[in-house]
Formats: sequence, C-alpha cells, structure tokens
Amino acid sequence: MNILVINCGSSSIKFKLFRMPENVLIASGLVEKIGGEESIINYSRDNETIRRIHKVSDHRQGLEIIANLLADPDCGVVKNLSEIEGVGHRVVHGGEEFTGSMLIDQKVKDKIREFIPLAPLHNPPNLEGILAAEKYFPESIQVACFDTAFHTTVPPVAHIYGIPYYFYEKYRIRRYGFHGTSHRYVARRFAQITGKHKYDVNLITCHLGNGCSITAVKNGRSIDTSMGFTPLEGLIMGTRSGDIDPGIILYFVDNLNMKPSEISKILNKESGLIGISGVSNDFRSIVESASQGNKMAQFAIESFCYRVKKYIGAYLAILGKTDGIIFTAGIGENQPVVRERSLEGLEELGVIIDREKNNSCRAIEQEISSRESKIKVFVIPTNEELAIASDTYEFAKKSLNH
Ligand code: ADP
Repeated sequence: MNILVINCGSSSIKFKLFRMPENVLIASGLVEKIGGEESIINYSRDNETIRRIHKVSDHRQGLEIIANLLADPDCGVVKNLSEIEGVGHRVVHGGEEFTGSMLIDQKVKDKIREFIPLAPLHNPPNLEGILAAEKYFPESIQVACFDTAFHTTVPPVAHIYGIPYYFYEKYRIRRYGFHGTSHRYVARRFAQITGKHKYDVNLITCHLGNGCSITAVKNGRSIDTSMGFTPLEGLIMGTRSGDIDPGIILYFVDNLNMKPSEISKILNKESGLIGISGVSNDFRSIVESASQGNKMAQFAIESFCYRVKKYIGAYLAILGKTDGIIFTAGIGENQPVVRERSLEGLEELGVIIDREKNNSCRAIEQEISSRESKIKVFVIPTNEELAIASDTYEFAKKSLNH
C-alpha cells in the first residue's frame, strides 16, 4: 500500500511516499519558497534527483506539482494517483481535543481552523495542505497527525501555569507541548530495541534540532515536556530563547518601548544559539567557530548543554526509576559534544556514558552508555514521516476492510 506523507510549513511542502507496511521510501521531495518568484522544487526517487525552479504561488499549486511528479510517465512512481491509498498530514496543533491521529472529516478540519490562534504560523499552511490534498488525491483517505497528540497525557499538575485559573478555563492557556510524533517514535523504538512493551518504559527523550524539546515518558506516555503553550518555552534553541523570566517582556514593553511584533521577532528569530553566540543558529558553524577559539560560540554551547542537563535532572526527579535517555534530531544525533556535556556529572544518578561509543556515533541507532550505567543512553534517529505513514496506514487498512 502506498502512503504519502505531507508536511506543509509556512512557505514549504516536504513530502515522502512510502510503501507500507514494509516501511520502504519510494520517493521524496521538497517544494521551497512558495509564494516567491523563484520557488525550488526538489524531487527524488531511486538514485535520481530532479531540481526545478519556477513560481509556485501557494500550497495548492505546490500539491498539484507534487501529484503530477508522482504520476509522471517519465519520473513518476505510480501509474495513477488512485494507487496512493492514504495521505498523512503533519498538523502542529490539535489542542486538547486530539489525543491521537484522526481520519480527516469536516469536524477535524473545523477544529484545526479553531486552533489557528494557538499556532498562527503552522495550522494555516497545514490546513491548506489538507484542502489541496483532498483535491488532488480525491480517492485517498486523509489522516491528520498532531504534534500535540502525544502530550495530551501530560497531567494537569504539569500542564497548568501559575497564572489565574480563569485563563485556562476561558482561553485554554496551558502547556501543550510539541514534537510529539518524534518523542513517541523514539520512545517506541527504544521499547522495541530493548525488548520491552511500549507501555513498560520510563524515558527522557531529547529532541535537539533547530527546535528543541525534551519529554519525560512514564509507562510509555508523555507526562511532562519542555515546550509549552507555544514552541518557545524550554530549551535554548537555534533561534528561539526557551525559558525566560516573563518579567523580561514587561521590561521590554515598559522601558524599551518595544512592540509585540518586535518582541516576537527577538524571541523567535534572534535568540537562542544565534542570539548568544552571534555566529549562527546552525550548531555545526558554532562548533567550528568554538574550535577556532571564539569565546561566545563556546559559551553558547555550554549554555545549551547546561539547559539540557537541567531538564534531564528535573525529569529524573519526576520519573523516579528511569530506563533510558534518548538523543534525537540533527544535534542530538550528530553532536557527541552535546550528549557528553549534557550528561557530565550524572554518574551518581546512574548515567555513565561510553566516551568512545559516543564520539563515534552519528545518526545511527546505537547505545552510547557503558555497561555499568543503570540508565541506558541511546541515539535513535527520529523519523516523524515514517510514524505519520504508519498511523495513516492503520487507518487505510481499516477503511479497506470495511
Ligand atoms: P529541524 O528541527 O529543522 O528538523 P534538524 O533536526 O535538522 O532541524 O537539526 C538542525 C540542527 O542539527 C542544526 O543546528 C545542525 O547544525 C545540526 N545538524 C544537522 N545535521 C548535522 C550533522 N550531520 N552534523 C552535525 N550537526 C548537524
């Protein structure tokens, strides 16, 4: 069965076509700079990559191009689009409503629209992608997989903020958490690798990419996570601040006369690693600059790892018995220095890293803790698209049986 996975960002569409349940990637690609004069279309299948540049006005046109490429007589991978049984969509915000992936109907679309104020940058393109996919893949079932769904098990005590309760009751202001598909994927993989039931593992999952978040998983379910009402909270990220004292925002407003749009730009685009280092938001460039002696780059790495360690400590405390710590996403998978520094000094708490294994491990599934370590440490490359494809496949299978 062929399942297409679509991830619509504000000006891009990433897509992957899988053959399920074999988990085989058949084709993939990216349409970038949608809305600009020169959009870039990348499409790959087998060992062949096609790159085209022309104007793509909106997500609808982007999806049309993807549909045409997939069924193209020369470079396509299916004869007819009806051979694609399901389309799985990444949707960032599912509010408190969606505790798992959903078959898309009018009600689901209405809810995604209702949650736009909670994710103004993400839910609109996600919804546009769904509407376009319904048009260009009319015979496929459509499934929404929410970034927030895995965190709907976070209990009230961990999701409530210390502000008047009325703001939760009336406006649903609470911790939602994000990157849920990735945290769930690596947690399930850990259970598979170690031969345990998926609901029999206590884990700390560290998703460290451009956006960074960390989750405490108890008995296979998320019980706390570092991102909050928005993806700004928690760890220091590429360009986002992570945790700050809310008093800083009041100071910006009262003493520096800053407007909300300016504050948003600073906290979302100019903070985090780039804000501290002044070098880049890309960890590779920061490491390079640090190795050449740039003190601020070194300081940015130190601050980043310090924050990760602080959250690991907090989550060890709330979990009690912990089976594993997992590192994933661009930085987590590829930067041994981050893994080492974030776990440094935790030996007394049962975390002992094997330095050699850690240093040589890049983007592969591998244990990097030593034999004496009570808590296993793993690198597990994330695969959110495959997780979305699996969920979509389950719905497609059910609909075929009916
Ligand atoms: P996104 O959150 O956009 O999916 P990624 O998971 O790709 O981002 O993470 C991007 C971060 O990971 C960047 O800081 C980048 O420097 C780092 N990174 C990605 N790949 C590598 C690599 N091969 N080696 C070192 N660092 C990497």
